[in-house]
Amino acid sequence: MTSLGYHATSPIAADHLDIDLDVAVRNLGSYTTAVLPEELARILDHLGGHNIVNNSEYPFIPEMVARCIERLSLLWHRQDPKAPAAAVSGSTEAAMLAGLCLLHRWKQRNSTQRPNLVVGSGAHICWKRFCAYWDVDLRAISSADNQVLADPDRIAKACNDNTIGVVATVGYSEHGLFDDVASLSEALRFKTQLTPIHVDAASGGFTAPFLASNLDWDFRLERVVSISASGHKFGQTSLGLGWILWRSEEFSPEYLWRGADYIGDGKPDIGLTFSRSAAPVAQQDYLLSRPGALARYRLDLSDCSHFAAAIADVVGTDPAIRIVNSGSTLPVVAFCDREPGTVERWANRMRHEGWIIPTYPLEANPRLGQCVRIVVKPGLPPHARDRLLASVLRSTYHGRH
Ligand SMILES: *Cc1c(COP(=O)(O)O)cnc(C)c1O
Repeated sequence: MTSLGYHATSPIAADHLDIDLDVAVRNLGSYTTAVLPEELARILDHLGGHNIVNNSEYPFIPEMVARCIERLSLLWHRQDPKAPAAAVSGSTEAAMLAGLCLLHRWKQRNSTQRPNLVVGSGAHICWKRFCAYWDVDLRAISSADNQVLADPDRIAKACNDNTIGVVATVGYSEHGLFDDVASLSEALRFKTQLTPIHVDAASGGFTAPFLASNLDWDFRLERVVSISASGHKFGQTSLGLGWILWRSEEFSPEYLWRGADYIGDGKPDIGLTFSRSAAPVAQQDYLLSRPGALARYRLDLSDCSHFAAAIADVVGTDPAIRIVNSGSTLPVVAFCDREPGTVERWANRMRHEGWIIPTYPLEANPRLGQCVRIVVKPGLPPHARDRLLASVLRSTYHGRH
């Protein structure tokens, strides 16, 4: 059931294995929706050409946006479901807006010095862009020794009066692990200034509520002032949707919200883009509001998480490999070299079987050698999973007995 229309034309697909899987399915490193179920494909067909800004033409679109925001408010424990929030083009746009709000708030009390933003290293490139575009000093805190995540105390120590905020990542792209937002929040209590936290939950925003409902990472923590997530990752919509929610009006200055009267209703909105397709929002509304919606998410995600754990179990039998994520809170398996060269050889065997798989040193800690991630996405057809597991078994046991 692949409907993105791509077929295996990649030259790296090995001939003898007759790989006929969609290229988006074979790309194991990608987080974005690879398989669009029939209902969602129909929504895309119907609404692909509808512009999300034409509110008066299609009044059901702002209603859909509002309903999604209400659902996300519940999932992320936001007290005031009517507080500022927006549907945007992706987590990158959401990050720009979150960062701008932090910057504007900081400027209200301090405008002469150079602002900085503190992140754990390995934070998504969108934060480097934010800092470069708006002239903010980026302080990326690296991980100690052979740790993968930066220590919350070290992150807190890096904050000063010119810190506009700290970005906690709930689902680092390179390994899928979550920052410990509760500990970070606690560590920041001992600083004099009130440093706010933005949570970049591009992928975890749609998995943590289902796979780790007891984990404190969201608006339950008072210091968390905004959260962003991508609809087109584990939100399961097609490309072009992100979400940004603020705790309250206080954290999203009103003067950044502008309406365009020529469109019809002039309702204030916030964004760095304007015209976009309304289809992903309609898909998100369907996915979050259909009967049993949340149970479906939970089921799909725990199934992905179990499959991820199975992959980690197989790969983990190789003593030359160190598993850093076995997919319990985000269905991502990540592992690194214990012995140099192991991960690269493993990935090459996978590539030889047609899988597209990136290898890289972790930005968070290059001392861990080459690493790899496999993102287990919902909707993978069973035959694709069978192929994947078989390839993982062959690549892991190759040359060993
Ligand atoms: C994917 C990702 C982003 C960027 O998201 P887009 O929706 O692709 O713009 C930002 N942060 C993290 C942690 C991500 O994984």
